[in-house]
Amino acid sequence: MSQITVVGGGIAGLTAAITCAEGGASVALLEAHDALGGRARSSEGPYKTNFGPHVLYKDGPLWGWLVERDLLPRYAGIPLAGIKLRWQGEVRRTPPLGMLPSVLRLRGREAPIDLDFRSWAASHTDERTAAALSAAAGVYTFHHDPGELSAAFVWPRTVRTLFSPPPAARYVIGGWNALVASLEARVRALGVTVQLGQRVEELPQTPVIVATELSQASELLGDDSVSWMSGHTLCLDVGLRRRRGDPFVVSDLDEAGWIERFSAPDRTLAPKGEDLVQAQMPVRPGESADQAAARLERLMDASMPTWRERETWRRRQVMDGRSGALDAPGTSWRDRPAVDRGDGVFLAGDMVAAPGLLSEVAWASALEASRLALEKAGSAGGAQPRLREVA
Ligand SMILES: Cc1cc2nc3c(=O)[nH]c(=O)nc-3n(C[C@H](O)[C@H](O)[C@H](O)COP(=O)(O)OP(=O)(O)OC[C@H]3O[C@@H](n4cnc5c(N)ncnc54)[C@H](O)[C@@H]3O)c2cc1C
Repeated sequence: MSQITVVGGGIAGLTAAITCAEGGASVALLEAHDALGGRARSSEGPYKTNFGPHVLYKDGPLWGWLVERDLLPRYAGIPLAGIKLRWQGEVRRTPPLGMLPSVLRLRGREAPIDLDFRSWAASHTDERTAAALSAAAGVYTFHHDPGELSAAFVWPRTVRTLFSPPPAARYVIGGWNALVASLEARVRALGVTVQLGQRVEELPQTPVIVATELSQASELLGDDSVSWMSGHTLCLDVGLRRRRGDPFVVSDLDEAGWIERFSAPDRTLAPKGEDLVQAQMPVRPGESADQAAARLERLMDASMPTWRERETWRRRQVMDGRSGALDAPGTSWRDRPAVDRGDGVFLAGDMVAAPGLLSEVAWASALEASRLALEKAGSAGGAQPRLREVA
């Protein structure tokens, strides 16, 4: 069998390298940076922040795949207390009670691809509930107005992330670097040739799996049509001297923001006596990062009094087009840039035509790209499962 080259060593590239090597191919993995992991890396030092707030979903196919291979890192569940909401300017513990019957009416309904989420939700509930549910989807869309996305994109993901008891979110102890380390160990154990600091400027010999961010894949492929819609968000990570009573999560039903105290489930993320908070506020069209940051800080003021006096450390980042695919009304994952580019070139990543939530898309597209690359390389790659529907 000929060699398969994988360009990019994030979740997609690592998954592809593992799958191709497990399928019997000789694999070379080329990564531009000095370390593997891409956007799944966490920062070094005493404050271990992920690249934006990151959780793994226990009910998803990526989780099952990690379990099967004994690659799941240590993790923590959601702490029981401390979830708050901002609604109409007020930070509160309980959802507006009048809304609950409306939300329950939506459960179990199949949302249409062609309609925007806000209109669909309003047609079964009311404008107020539809607005609140739209903003709640900010946590995984990183979009200033999730209500304008396809209803079929938003609703199943909202049910999965926010309305499925018990909650499926899990926190990787020590940050997502632990997940990357686990995948890297498997890659190396399988004998994959890993080359770090290797920025690929031209497509290598095929079969090749391009597992970079989509904008970089577009450049490598010389194809401007390789693009898709994604979020634009301001991320603020802060270290705080610990104070009893700080919430674990604040879901912002007014402006689609989110605050999460990651050190609540995992104390190793911040120095002793401190907390690590990761917060995000989607940037509106025409808005500057400073303006979005000011809105986020107002949410923090309302949620964690005295946080400014307690601040010990901060990191601010803007993620533009880097937080996964979003589907507009009339489109679904099947319309995104295809995995198979022809002539032995395959795409993988979180903006590619594959189902799933956030990094699950990177993983699922990598499996599909590997199946096709193995076929091309002459192995029985068809034994891999094909893409199947998942929110
Ligand atoms: C704010 C934010 C929050 C998120 N939250 C979650 C979450 O809670 N749960 C979740 O599951 N996912 C989450 N995600 C998504 C998750 O981080 C990504 O889906 C995943 O990391 C993408 O992996 P990837 O391999 O597709 O891309 P990347 O991680 O971007 O990997 C691409 C790799 O390719 C390399 N590369 C690029 N160009 C070249 C080149 N020319 N030659 C060689 N190498 C190259 C890069 O250096 C990089 O290592 C979040 C993302 C963001 C931004």
